[in-house]
Amino acid sequence: MTVTVRFAPSPTGHIHIGNARTALFNWLYAKIHDGRFILRFDDTDTARSKQEYADQIQKDLHWLGVMPDVTVHQSARFDTYDAAVARLKDAGLLYPCWETPEELDRRRKIRLSRKLPPVYGREALKLSEADRQALEAEGRTPHWRFLLPNFASDPFDTQRTEIQWDDVVRGPQTVDLASMSDPVLVREDGSYLYTLPSVVDDIELGVTHVIRGDDHVTNTGAQIALFRALAAEPPAFGHHNLLTTASGEGLSKRSGALSIKSLADDGIEPMAVASLAVLIGTAESVAAVRSMDELAARFDPAATSKSAAKFDPAELLTLNRALIHVMTFEDAKDRLEELGIGGDRAEAFWLAVRGNLERLGEAVEWWKVVHEGPEPRAEISIEDREFLAVAFDNLPAEPWDRMTWKVWTDRLKDLTGRKGKALFMPLRLALTGREQGPELADLLPLLGREGTEARRP
Ligand code: GLU
Repeated sequence: MTVTVRFAPSPTGHIHIGNARTALFNWLYAKIHDGRFILRFDDTDTARSKQEYADQIQKDLHWLGVMPDVTVHQSARFDTYDAAVARLKDAGLLYPCWETPEELDRRRKIRLSRKLPPVYGREALKLSEADRQALEAEGRTPHWRFLLPNFASDPFDTQRTEIQWDDVVRGPQTVDLASMSDPVLVREDGSYLYTLPSVVDDIELGVTHVIRGDDHVTNTGAQIALFRALAAEPPAFGHHNLLTTASGEGLSKRSGALSIKSLADDGIEPMAVASLAVLIGTAESVAAVRSMDELAARFDPAATSKSAAKFDPAELLTLNRALIHVMTFEDAKDRLEELGIGGDRAEAFWLAVRGNLERLGEAVEWWKVVHEGPEPRAEISIEDREFLAVAFDNLPAEPWDRMTWKVWTDRLKDLTGRKGKALFMPLRLALTGREQGPELADLLPLLGREGTEARRP
Protein backbone atom coordinates (compact mmCIF):
# COMPACT_ATOMS: atom_id res chain seq x y z
CA MET A 1 0.00 0.00 0.00
CA THR A 2 1.32 3.47 -0.87
CA VAL A 3 2.36 5.33 2.24
CA THR A 4 -0.05 8.25 2.58
CA VAL A 5 0.43 10.97 5.18
CA ARG A 6 -1.36 14.20 5.89
CA PHE A 7 -0.62 17.53 7.49
CA ALA A 8 -3.82 18.92 8.97
CA PRO A 9 -3.59 22.54 10.13
CA SER A 10 -6.60 24.61 11.13
CA PRO A 11 -6.43 27.82 9.08
CA THR A 12 -7.02 30.02 12.11
CA GLY A 13 -3.62 31.73 12.12
CA HIS A 14 -0.12 31.60 10.69
CA ILE A 15 1.78 28.34 11.05
CA HIS A 16 4.99 28.50 13.08
CA ILE A 17 8.21 26.54 13.24
CA GLY A 18 6.55 23.94 15.52
CA ASN A 19 3.85 23.31 12.90
CA ALA A 20 6.63 23.14 10.31
CA ARG A 21 8.12 20.29 12.37
CA THR A 22 4.88 18.32 11.96
CA ALA A 23 4.60 19.15 8.25
CA LEU A 24 8.22 18.17 7.64
CA PHE A 25 8.07 14.95 9.66
CA ASN A 26 5.19 13.93 7.39
CA TRP A 27 6.87 15.20 4.23
CA LEU A 28 10.15 13.42 4.95
CA TYR A 29 8.36 10.25 5.96
CA ALA A 30 6.49 10.27 2.64
CA LYS A 31 9.71 11.06 0.78
CA ILE A 32 11.61 8.17 2.32
CA HIS A 33 8.79 5.75 1.55
CA ASP A 34 7.94 7.11 -1.87
CA GLY A 35 4.56 8.08 -0.52
CA ARG A 36 1.88 10.72 -0.95
CA PHE A 37 1.38 13.86 1.10
CA ILE A 38 -2.07 15.33 1.67
CA LEU A 39 -2.60 18.86 2.92
CA ARG A 40 -5.87 18.83 4.82
CA PHE A 41 -7.34 22.06 6.11
CA ASP A 42 -9.20 21.34 9.35
CA ASP A 43 -11.63 24.18 8.83
CA THR A 44 -14.86 22.82 10.30
CA ASP A 45 -14.83 25.82 12.63
CA THR A 46 -16.14 28.14 9.94
CA ALA A 47 -16.21 31.16 12.24
CA ARG A 48 -12.49 31.06 13.05
CA SER A 49 -11.11 29.62 9.82
CA LYS A 50 -10.04 32.11 7.18
CA GLN A 51 -9.16 31.66 3.52
CA GLU A 52 -6.27 34.12 3.85
CA TYR A 53 -4.67 31.88 6.48
CA ALA A 54 -5.18 28.80 4.28
CA ASP A 55 -3.52 30.65 1.37
CA GLN A 56 -0.62 31.70 3.55
CA ILE A 57 -0.16 28.16 4.90
CA GLN A 58 0.03 26.89 1.34
CA LYS A 59 2.65 29.54 0.50
CA ASP A 60 4.61 28.74 3.65
CA LEU A 61 4.70 25.04 2.82
CA HIS A 62 5.87 25.70 -0.75
CA TRP A 63 8.53 28.04 0.57
CA LEU A 64 9.76 25.26 2.88
CA GLY A 65 9.83 22.84 -0.07
CA VAL A 66 6.75 20.86 0.93
CA MET A 67 4.58 20.29 -2.15
CA PRO A 68 1.31 18.52 -1.34
CA ASP A 69 0.02 15.93 -3.81
CA VAL A 70 -3.56 16.63 -2.77
CA THR A 71 -5.24 19.49 -0.89
CA VAL A 72 -8.64 19.08 0.79
CA HIS A 73 -10.83 21.33 2.89
CA GLN A 74 -12.96 19.74 5.58
CA SER A 75 -15.51 22.53 5.15
CA ALA A 76 -16.39 20.98 1.76
CA ARG A 77 -16.98 17.54 3.23
CA PHE A 78 -19.81 17.93 5.73
CA ASP A 79 -22.02 15.44 3.83
CA THR A 80 -19.44 12.74 4.43
CA TYR A 81 -19.31 13.48 8.15
CA ASP A 82 -23.11 13.55 8.34
CA ALA A 83 -23.20 10.06 6.79
CA ALA A 84 -20.74 8.78 9.39
CA VAL A 85 -22.84 10.31 12.16
CA ALA A 86 -25.93 8.53 10.82
CA ARG A 87 -24.05 5.21 10.86
CA LEU A 88 -22.88 5.71 14.42
CA LYS A 89 -26.35 6.69 15.59
CA ASP A 90 -27.84 3.62 13.91
CA ALA A 91 -25.32 1.46 15.70
CA GLY A 92 -26.20 3.08 19.03
CA LEU A 93 -22.65 4.42 19.35
CA LEU A 94 -23.49 8.12 19.31
CA TYR A 95 -25.87 9.34 21.98
CA PRO A 96 -27.47 12.69 22.79
CA CYS A 97 -26.51 14.62 25.94
CA TRP A 98 -28.03 17.80 27.31
CA GLU A 99 -25.73 18.78 30.17
CA THR A 100 -24.58 22.37 30.32
CA PRO A 101 -20.86 23.11 30.90
CA GLU A 102 -21.71 24.23 34.47
CA GLU A 103 -23.46 20.96 35.18
CA LEU A 104 -20.54 18.96 33.84
CA ASP A 105 -18.13 20.99 35.91
CA ARG A 106 -20.17 20.43 39.05
CA ARG A 107 -20.29 16.68 38.47
CA ARG A 108 -16.59 16.59 37.75
CA LYS A 109 -15.87 18.24 41.10
CA ILE A 110 -18.12 15.79 42.93
CA ARG A 111 -16.34 12.85 41.32
CA LEU A 112 -12.98 14.28 42.24
CA SER A 113 -14.08 14.78 45.86
CA ARG A 114 -15.10 11.11 45.94
CA LYS A 115 -11.69 10.16 44.53
CA LEU A 116 -13.29 8.95 41.33
CA PRO A 117 -11.68 9.69 37.96
CA PRO A 118 -13.20 12.95 36.62
CA VAL A 119 -14.73 11.37 33.55
CA TYR A 120 -18.23 11.75 32.18
CA GLY A 121 -20.56 9.29 33.99
CA ARG A 122 -22.84 8.71 31.00
CA GLU A 123 -25.79 10.16 32.92
CA ALA A 124 -27.50 11.04 29.61
CA LEU A 125 -27.83 7.33 28.86
CA LYS A 126 -30.13 7.07 31.87
CA LEU A 127 -32.64 9.53 30.49
CA SER A 128 -35.97 8.03 29.54
CA GLU A 129 -37.68 8.78 26.27
CA ALA A 130 -40.03 11.08 28.19
CA ASP A 131 -37.07 12.97 29.75
CA ARG A 132 -35.61 13.53 26.32
CA GLN A 133 -38.83 14.74 24.87
CA ALA A 134 -39.26 17.14 27.77
CA LEU A 135 -35.76 18.58 27.17
CA GLU A 136 -36.44 18.95 23.49
CA ALA A 137 -39.80 20.58 24.22
CA GLU A 138 -37.85 23.23 26.13
CA GLY A 139 -36.14 24.03 22.83
CA ARG A 140 -32.81 22.56 23.89
CA THR A 141 -30.68 20.68 21.42
CA PRO A 142 -28.26 17.97 22.46
CA HIS A 143 -24.57 17.52 21.85
CA TRP A 144 -23.52 14.01 20.85
CA ARG A 145 -21.02 11.71 22.51
CA PHE A 146 -19.29 8.64 21.14
CA LEU A 147 -19.84 5.61 23.39
CA LEU A 148 -16.33 4.31 24.03
CA PRO A 149 -16.05 0.50 24.00
CA ASN A 150 -14.76 0.32 27.56
CA PHE A 151 -17.34 -2.05 29.09
CA ALA A 152 -18.54 -5.64 28.63
CA SER A 153 -22.33 -5.29 28.63
CA ASP A 154 -23.19 -2.51 31.09
CA PRO A 155 -21.95 0.97 30.05
CA PHE A 156 -22.03 2.03 33.72
CA ASP A 157 -19.60 -0.70 34.64
CA THR A 158 -16.49 0.37 32.74
CA GLN A 159 -13.44 -1.86 32.67
CA ARG A 160 -9.82 -1.25 31.89
CA THR A 161 -9.70 -1.43 28.07
CA GLU A 162 -6.25 -1.06 26.60
CA ILE A 163 -5.77 0.37 23.16
CA GLN A 164 -2.26 -0.34 22.00
CA TRP A 165 -0.26 0.73 19.02
CA ASP A 166 3.35 0.70 17.95
CA ASP A 167 4.04 4.38 17.54
CA VAL A 168 6.32 5.25 14.62
CA VAL A 169 8.06 7.80 16.87
CA ARG A 170 7.51 6.71 20.49
CA GLY A 171 7.43 2.93 20.20
CA PRO A 172 4.78 0.81 21.99
CA GLN A 173 1.95 2.92 23.47
CA THR A 174 -1.03 2.03 25.62
CA VAL A 175 -4.07 4.14 26.40
CA ASP A 176 -6.85 2.94 28.71
CA LEU A 177 -10.30 3.81 27.34
CA ALA A 178 -11.80 3.56 30.83
CA SER A 179 -9.69 6.55 31.88
CA MET A 180 -11.39 8.95 29.50
CA SER A 181 -14.78 10.51 28.90
CA ASP A 182 -16.87 9.62 25.90
CA PRO A 183 -15.72 12.31 23.47
CA VAL A 184 -18.21 14.86 22.18
CA LEU A 185 -18.24 14.54 18.40
CA VAL A 186 -21.02 17.00 17.54
CA ARG A 187 -21.84 20.22 19.38
CA GLU A 188 -25.31 21.55 20.29
CA ASP A 189 -25.33 23.76 17.19
CA GLY A 190 -24.58 20.75 14.97
CA SER A 191 -20.95 21.76 14.34
CA TYR A 192 -18.21 19.15 14.40
CA LEU A 193 -15.36 18.92 16.82
CA TYR A 194 -12.05 17.79 15.37
CA THR A 195 -12.23 14.07 16.26
CA LEU A 196 -14.83 12.64 13.88
CA PRO A 197 -14.01 14.58 10.68
CA SER A 198 -10.34 13.71 11.18
CA VAL A 199 -11.04 9.98 11.45
CA VAL A 200 -13.54 9.97 8.58
CA ASP A 201 -11.04 11.76 6.32
CA ASP A 202 -8.18 9.53 7.32
CA ILE A 203 -10.35 6.57 6.26
CA GLU A 204 -11.70 8.10 3.06
CA LEU A 205 -8.41 9.55 1.87
CA GLY A 206 -6.54 6.32 2.51
CA VAL A 207 -4.17 7.78 5.10
CA THR A 208 -1.73 5.07 6.18
CA HIS A 209 0.31 7.08 8.73
CA VAL A 210 -0.90 9.82 11.05
CA ILE A 211 2.14 11.76 12.24
CA ARG A 212 1.44 14.64 14.61
CA GLY A 213 2.41 16.27 17.88
CA ASP A 214 2.44 14.28 21.11
CA ASP A 215 -0.36 16.46 22.48
CA HIS A 216 -2.60 14.04 20.54
CA VAL A 217 -1.48 10.76 22.18
CA THR A 218 -4.63 10.41 24.31
CA ASN A 219 -6.87 11.39 21.41
CA THR A 220 -5.37 8.52 19.50
CA GLY A 221 -6.90 5.99 21.91
CA ALA A 222 -10.40 7.34 21.26
CA GLN A 223 -9.72 7.76 17.55
CA ILE A 224 -8.61 4.15 17.15
CA ALA A 225 -11.90 3.10 18.78
CA LEU A 226 -13.73 5.36 16.33
CA PHE A 227 -11.91 3.84 13.32
CA ARG A 228 -13.09 0.44 14.51
CA ALA A 229 -16.64 1.65 15.12
CA LEU A 230 -16.67 2.80 11.50
CA ALA A 231 -15.43 -0.65 10.45
CA ALA A 232 -12.04 0.65 9.31
CA GLU A 233 -8.54 -0.55 10.08
CA PRO A 234 -6.74 2.25 11.99
CA PRO A 235 -3.65 3.69 10.33
CA ALA A 236 -0.21 3.68 11.93
CA PHE A 237 0.42 6.58 14.32
CA GLY A 238 3.48 8.63 15.18
CA HIS A 239 3.61 11.36 17.84
CA HIS A 240 6.61 13.65 17.89
CA ASN A 241 7.70 15.89 20.76
CA LEU A 242 6.71 19.54 20.57
CA LEU A 243 9.03 22.49 20.16
CA THR A 244 9.27 24.91 23.05
CA THR A 245 11.36 28.02 23.55
CA ALA A 246 14.40 27.81 25.82
CA SER A 247 12.24 28.88 28.78
CA GLY A 248 9.92 25.94 28.11
CA GLU A 249 7.10 27.99 26.62
CA GLY A 250 5.01 26.43 23.87
CA LEU A 251 4.59 28.15 20.52
CA SER A 252 1.25 29.67 19.65
CA LYS A 253 -0.30 30.39 16.29
CA ARG A 254 -1.73 33.53 17.71
CA SER A 255 1.50 35.13 18.87
CA GLY A 256 2.82 35.40 15.30
CA ALA A 257 6.38 35.09 16.63
CA LEU A 258 8.40 32.47 14.80
CA SER A 259 5.70 32.14 12.17
CA ILE A 260 7.06 30.77 8.92
CA LYS A 261 6.02 33.97 7.19
CA SER A 262 7.91 36.17 9.65
CA LEU A 263 11.04 34.03 9.30
CA ALA A 264 10.82 34.19 5.50
CA ASP A 265 10.28 37.97 5.67
CA ASP A 266 13.33 38.21 7.93
CA GLY A 267 15.53 36.62 5.26
CA ILE A 268 15.93 33.22 6.92
CA GLU A 269 16.55 30.43 4.39
CA PRO A 270 13.93 27.68 4.14
CA MET A 271 16.56 25.00 4.77
CA ALA A 272 17.70 26.78 7.95
CA VAL A 273 14.14 26.56 9.25
CA ALA A 274 13.74 22.97 8.03
CA SER A 275 17.08 21.86 9.52
CA LEU A 276 16.22 23.23 12.94
CA ALA A 277 12.56 22.18 12.83
CA VAL A 278 13.47 18.58 12.03
CA LEU A 279 16.76 17.93 13.82
CA ILE A 280 16.17 19.60 17.18
CA GLY A 281 15.12 17.15 19.87
CA THR A 282 16.42 14.12 17.97
CA ALA A 283 19.53 11.95 18.17
CA GLU A 284 21.06 13.98 15.30
CA SER A 285 22.96 17.14 16.09
CA VAL A 286 21.47 20.32 14.67
CA ALA A 287 23.40 21.40 11.59
CA ALA A 288 22.66 23.40 8.47
CA VAL A 289 21.53 20.81 5.95
CA ARG A 290 21.52 22.05 2.37
CA SER A 291 18.76 20.04 0.74
CA MET A 292 15.61 18.14 1.57
CA ASP A 293 17.27 14.95 0.23
CA GLU A 294 20.10 15.34 2.69
CA LEU A 295 17.64 16.06 5.49
CA ALA A 296 15.66 12.93 4.56
CA ALA A 297 18.87 10.92 4.86
CA ARG A 298 19.28 12.16 8.44
CA PHE A 299 15.63 11.77 9.38
CA ASP A 300 14.72 8.88 11.65
CA PRO A 301 11.41 9.39 13.46
CA ALA A 302 12.23 6.64 15.94
CA ALA A 303 15.30 8.58 17.09
CA THR A 304 13.19 11.52 18.31
CA SER A 305 13.38 12.30 21.99
CA LYS A 306 10.23 11.95 24.11
CA SER A 307 10.69 15.15 26.07
CA ALA A 308 9.98 18.63 24.68
CA ALA A 309 12.49 19.91 22.12
CA LYS A 310 13.80 23.21 23.49
CA PHE A 311 15.23 25.50 20.91
CA ASP A 312 16.87 28.87 20.73
CA PRO A 313 15.58 31.05 17.88
CA ALA A 314 19.06 32.62 17.60
CA GLU A 315 20.21 29.28 16.23
CA LEU A 316 18.28 30.02 13.06
CA LEU A 317 20.65 32.82 12.18
CA THR A 318 23.68 30.63 12.83
CA LEU A 319 22.28 27.99 10.49
CA ASN A 320 21.39 30.66 7.96
CA ARG A 321 24.91 32.01 7.91
CA ALA A 322 26.30 28.51 7.44
CA LEU A 323 24.00 27.91 4.46
CA ILE A 324 24.77 31.25 2.81
CA HIS A 325 28.52 30.75 3.23
CA VAL A 326 28.46 27.66 1.02
CA MET A 327 25.59 28.56 -1.30
CA THR A 328 26.59 28.07 -4.94
CA PHE A 329 26.08 30.85 -7.45
CA GLU A 330 23.73 28.53 -9.30
CA ASP A 331 21.48 28.38 -6.23
CA ALA A 332 21.65 32.10 -5.52
CA LYS A 333 21.51 33.40 -9.11
CA ASP A 334 17.78 33.99 -9.59
CA ARG A 335 17.32 35.58 -6.22
CA LEU A 336 20.34 37.83 -6.77
CA GLU A 337 18.93 38.91 -10.09
CA GLU A 338 15.69 39.88 -8.39
CA LEU A 339 17.79 42.09 -6.14
CA GLY A 340 19.40 43.73 -9.17
CA ILE A 341 22.64 41.73 -8.95
CA GLY A 342 23.42 40.31 -12.37
CA GLY A 343 25.78 40.45 -15.34
CA ASP A 344 29.16 38.85 -16.05
CA ARG A 345 30.65 39.70 -12.73
CA ALA A 346 27.77 38.52 -10.57
CA GLU A 347 29.30 35.10 -9.96
CA ALA A 348 32.70 36.43 -8.91
CA PHE A 349 30.90 38.97 -6.74
CA TRP A 350 28.78 36.29 -5.05
CA LEU A 351 31.76 34.08 -4.35
CA ALA A 352 33.61 37.08 -2.91
CA VAL A 353 30.87 38.25 -0.55
CA ARG A 354 28.85 35.18 0.52
CA GLY A 355 31.27 34.40 3.37
CA ASN A 356 30.39 37.74 4.95
CA LEU A 357 26.65 37.52 4.85
CA GLU A 358 24.12 36.38 7.41
CA ARG A 359 21.25 36.79 4.98
CA LEU A 360 21.30 36.66 1.21
CA GLY A 361 19.64 40.09 0.97
CA GLU A 362 22.71 41.71 2.54
CA ALA A 363 24.51 41.11 -0.77
CA VAL A 364 22.82 44.30 -2.00
CA GLU A 365 24.89 46.46 0.35
CA TRP A 366 28.11 44.96 -0.94
CA TRP A 367 26.95 45.30 -4.54
CA LYS A 368 26.53 49.01 -3.84
CA VAL A 369 29.95 49.24 -2.22
CA VAL A 370 31.50 47.61 -5.31
CA HIS A 371 29.55 49.60 -7.88
CA GLU A 372 28.90 52.93 -6.26
CA GLY A 373 31.73 53.19 -3.77
CA PRO A 374 31.70 53.28 0.01
CA GLU A 375 28.88 55.24 1.53
CA PRO A 376 29.62 56.88 3.89
CA ARG A 377 33.34 57.16 3.30
CA ALA A 378 35.46 56.23 6.30
CA GLU A 379 37.32 58.73 8.48
CA ILE A 380 41.02 58.39 7.78
CA SER A 381 43.84 59.76 9.95
CA ILE A 382 46.53 62.06 8.59
CA GLU A 383 49.30 59.39 8.72
CA ASP A 384 47.08 56.92 6.96
CA ARG A 385 46.28 59.49 4.27
CA GLU A 386 50.00 59.80 3.56
CA PHE A 387 50.29 56.04 3.35
CA LEU A 388 47.25 55.84 1.07
CA ALA A 389 48.70 58.51 -1.25
CA VAL A 390 51.71 56.23 -1.78
CA ALA A 391 49.40 53.23 -2.18
CA PHE A 392 47.22 54.85 -4.86
CA ASP A 393 50.31 56.14 -6.69
CA ASN A 394 51.51 52.56 -6.93
CA LEU A 395 48.52 50.65 -8.23
CA PRO A 396 49.64 47.55 -10.13
CA ALA A 397 49.26 47.42 -13.91
CA GLU A 398 46.24 45.66 -15.40
CA PRO A 399 44.96 42.98 -15.94
CA TRP A 400 43.85 42.46 -12.37
CA ASP A 401 43.17 39.10 -10.82
CA ARG A 402 43.25 37.42 -7.41
CA MET A 403 47.05 37.87 -7.21
CA THR A 404 46.87 41.65 -7.64
CA TRP A 405 46.29 42.24 -3.93
CA LYS A 406 49.48 40.41 -3.01
CA VAL A 407 51.53 42.16 -5.69
CA TRP A 408 50.25 45.55 -4.52
CA THR A 409 50.67 45.00 -0.78
CA ASP A 410 54.13 43.40 -1.19
CA ARG A 411 55.23 46.52 -3.02
CA LEU A 412 53.68 48.77 -0.32
CA LYS A 413 55.52 46.84 2.41
CA ASP A 414 58.79 47.56 0.64
CA LEU A 415 57.94 51.19 0.00
CA THR A 416 56.52 52.11 3.42
CA GLY A 417 57.72 49.45 5.86
CA ARG A 418 54.12 48.95 7.03
CA LYS A 419 52.76 45.47 7.62
CA GLY A 420 49.78 43.64 9.13
CA LYS A 421 46.81 45.69 10.18
CA ALA A 422 48.61 49.00 9.72
CA LEU A 423 49.03 48.05 6.09
CA PHE A 424 45.67 46.58 5.17
CA MET A 425 43.18 48.45 7.39
CA PRO A 426 43.63 51.87 5.73
CA LEU A 427 43.30 50.14 2.35
CA ARG A 428 40.15 48.33 3.45
CA LEU A 429 38.67 51.56 4.83
CA ALA A 430 39.44 53.50 1.68
CA LEU A 431 38.10 50.79 -0.63
CA THR A 432 34.98 49.70 1.24
CA GLY A 433 34.28 52.27 3.95
CA ARG A 434 34.14 49.50 6.57
CA GLU A 435 36.53 47.74 8.91
CA GLN A 436 35.24 44.31 7.99
CA GLY A 437 34.18 42.57 4.85
CA PRO A 438 35.08 40.21 2.06
CA GLU A 439 38.69 39.36 1.23
CA LEU A 440 40.27 42.33 -0.50
CA ALA A 441 42.05 39.90 -2.85
CA ASP A 442 38.58 38.97 -4.14
CA LEU A 443 37.21 42.49 -4.21
CA LEU A 444 40.08 44.14 -6.09
CA PRO A 445 39.43 42.43 -9.45
CA LEU A 446 35.75 43.39 -9.08
CA LEU A 447 36.62 47.03 -8.49
CA GLY A 448 39.20 47.08 -11.29
CA ARG A 449 41.98 49.62 -11.53
CA GLU A 450 39.60 52.40 -12.47
CA GLY A 451 37.15 51.65 -9.65
CA THR A 452 40.02 51.49 -7.19
CA GLU A 453 41.51 54.75 -8.43
CA ALA A 454 38.11 56.39 -7.89
CA ARG A 455 38.34 55.52 -4.19
CA ARG A 456 41.52 57.56 -3.65
CA PRO A 457 40.75 59.60 -0.48
N1 GLU B 1 -6.03 20.14 13.20
C1 GLU B 1 -5.40 19.27 14.16
C2 GLU B 1 -4.34 20.04 14.90
O1 GLU B 1 -3.80 21.00 14.35
C3 GLU B 1 -4.80 18.10 13.45
C4 GLU B 1 -4.33 17.02 14.33
C5 GLU B 1 -4.04 15.76 13.53
O2 GLU B 1 -3.04 15.78 12.83
O3 GLU B 1 -4.83 14.85 13.58
O4 GLU B 1 -4.03 19.76 16.04
